[in-house]
Amino acid sequence: MRDITSKVFRSNRELAAKLIKIIEALWRNIKLNGVEQLKIMNFCGTHEYTTTHYGLRSILPEGIDMVAGPGCPVCVTPSFYVESAIKLALEGVRVYTYGDAYRLPAVKKIEGVRSLAEARAVGGEVQIVYSLLDAVKDAVKDKKESVFLAIGFETTYPVYASTIIKDMVPEDFRFIVAGRLTPPAAEYAINKVGRVDGIIAPGHVSTIIGGEAWKPLSEKYNIPTVISGFEPLDVLISIVEILRQIDERRPRVVIEYTRAVSWSGNIAAKKMINQVFEECDAAWRGLGFIPKSGYRMRQQYQELDALRKYGIAEPSPADWSYDLSPGCRCGEVIIGKIKPVECPLFMKKCTPNTPYGPCMVSSEGACSIWARAGTFRFHRKQLHSSLD
Ligand code: SF4
Repeated sequence: MRDITSKVFRSNRELAAKLIKIIEALWRNIKLNGVEQLKIMNFCGTHEYTTTHYGLRSILPEGIDMVAGPGCPVCVTPSFYVESAIKLALEGVRVYTYGDAYRLPAVKKIEGVRSLAEARAVGGEVQIVYSLLDAVKDAVKDKKESVFLAIGFETTYPVYASTIIKDMVPEDFRFIVAGRLTPPAAEYAINKVGRVDGIIAPGHVSTIIGGEAWKPLSEKYNIPTVISGFEPLDVLISIVEILRQIDERRPRVVIEYTRAVSWSGNIAAKKMINQVFEECDAAWRGLGFIPKSGYRMRQQYQELDALRKYGIAEPSPADWSYDLSPGCRCGEVIIGKIKPVECPLFMKKCTPNTPYGPCMVSSEGACSIWARAGTFRFHRKQLHSSLD
């Protein structure tokens, strides 16, 4: 076990040491009941970053495993949306995208092109923006037929909704609506992975949806669920709370990130989303269709839907194929079934500079986080010794 001397804990070393001692004591108690392994899922990519970058796995007692969840919006955006955006960009429609989605590799090549970055390199109309408002300003200035690749979770959708409600969208501006909802994906991951003993629920998303959104999941599966902040100490405190609930056999939702999250969330933001968008069954890259896990435009706003305007039909669940390139195991990485180092392509065919799969692109993607932290050497060694 690593000594708690890393730079993260330097200012809070004593508190971190106390938390580790509490974790160890709780774990000893839990083991008395015959439990040998616990699996805690970090739903959110930013929590995976904290866990990996600060080496939290290495200071936890043996038997407690932390796994990644599907909480990286870039990773789970179906290839179909990227392919549609590439097609439009090559046809001269300006596509606005965030920087990480710009590099997101599609499964199918469109006219030899596999990402928006490549589309731009061959003359396609692609513009990177930091926000929807930047895209709107640019489109107003240039009066260009445009499309915004609207990926994201519940956190990003209030801005899209308010821009539409305030009638700020230029005439020739449309949205590729690829928004996804997080609690249904967490439920999917729990079912697929077989057993999850605790969930560290996403802090950013919960500022909008509130703690109450996680209650049905926690109650249905009896899973301790802690909405956590993103500092290493936040994550350690959340682990303490999860272990305490397991020890007391009293699973429930607790908000650790009280400085930003309330029980009911941001009611005004939820109202705005609900005015413009409605829930629908939706595909997640590498996972397939998940009931009630996506947004689509409500009837009165459908004229803003890019796919509708350009006559691009979304695949139905029956037509949906598994949308990862051959060999990519992102579908297992994002439900915590495997660690990034268990993908044979990790840091070989697939690296942060040459991403082959979607989890290697964004700073919130599990494979990219492991690659950039360099911890893969440590974990690969551990994995190999456990296989010997
Ligand atoms: S290392 Fe690359 S190919 Fe393998 S699962 Fe991760 S993103 Fe996919």
